[in-house]
Amino acid sequence: MKSFTLFNPKSLGDAVGALAAPTSSVKVLAGGQDLLTEMKEHLVEPDKLVNLKGVPGLDRIEFTAAGACTIGALVTVGALEEHAGVRERLRVLAEAAGSVGSPQIRSVGTVGGNLCQRPRCWYYRSEHAKCLKKGGDECFSFSGQNKYNAILGGGPSYIVHPSDLAPALVALGATVTLKCSTGERQVALERFFTLPGEGDIRRETVLRDDEVLTHVHVPAPAAGMQSTYVKFRERGSYDFALASVALALWRDGARVKEARVVLGGVAPIPWRAKAAEAALAGAAFEAATFARAADGAVQGAEGFGQNDYKIPLTKGLVQRALQSCG
Ligand SMILES: Cc1cc2nc3c(=O)[nH]c(=O)nc-3n(C[C@H](O)[C@H](O)[C@H](O)COP(=O)(O)OP(=O)(O)OC[C@H]3O[C@@H](n4cnc5c(N)ncnc54)[C@H](O)[C@@H]3O)c2cc1C
Repeated sequence: MKSFTLFNPKSLGDAVGALAAPTSSVKVLAGGQDLLTEMKEHLVEPDKLVNLKGVPGLDRIEFTAAGACTIGALVTVGALEEHAGVRERLRVLAEAAGSVGSPQIRSVGTVGGNLCQRPRCWYYRSEHAKCLKKGGDECFSFSGQNKYNAILGGGPSYIVHPSDLAPALVALGATVTLKCSTGERQVALERFFTLPGEGDIRRETVLRDDEVLTHVHVPAPAAGMQSTYVKFRERGSYDFALASVALALWRDGARVKEARVVLGGVAPIPWRAKAAEAALAGAAFEAATFARAADGAVQGAEGFGQNDYKIPLTKGLVQRALQSCG
């Protein structure tokens, strides 16, 4: 690993001040689980790390009386999973947090780091593979080993977004605060993530080098929300999603009033399955509807060999998520 200086700011102002002259040689450090691995593999080689851990006020989860929730970027995934209010009111988020890695990983990894973590595609992670995301000419997964790659929204790169929190938070309609030395902006989480074909292929989000993600805001869910997170992984003890489904659902008696269906592990971003949502809205809450929603969820999906299994897998998970709300 290249040597670097560690800056330990004691305030958010000092932290964003240190990022003010954006350069790829300064990086934000939170739990370090992802960033330090990238540095060891020479994927990023910053001269300086801005360690957020000493910045006060970013490690809290707060609910308003109306039920809106604000989550600081330094809240650990484990603290999110265990928070009584989150478990009671935002089940999909508590379940997603509980599905992240192992207890050790959850006790160190932060919410901000989880949303900003980089892809796990093994071509991207290998310092020896100069793939498209690292300035090369080719996404090697297309003709190479693609068991874990995208079936939706891919091209020209076929990474999948690794975060479990992201689909759950998109299903809940969350926004994030991004702060720099001259101000801050609120961005809907759904628009925080970017497809490889619609921006800078080297990035997965709209976060700028001079910005810190400080908070996640979850609006108070409309009354009667049912929600769940269903994830399938290759290794039962801890693993990233091969495919996952975050579901938020509102019913009116025997019919679905509204649903949000967001897929993880199958696209370069948390994938809002709008055709599935349309199949559910106003329909009877029954198996035939679940099957139509499952078909809608994979509308446009395309495997290219080893990842073909993700299509039936995703359909099954959508049905399982709906059944669990019965
Ligand atoms: C073995 C293993 C298994 C895992 N399994 C899962 C899993 O099943 N599901 C899952 O969702 N995740 C999983 N993870 C990912 C893990 O949860 C993330 O690595 C972790 O959440 C990253 O958080 P961190 O605080 O360590 O971030 P860091 O490593 O400190 O940072 C990660 C990236 O985000 C940037 N960053 C961090 N915080 C901020 C901020 N507040 N503002 C702006 N930029 C920021 C950093 O610059 C860096 O680029 C796994 C990780 C490992 C090592």
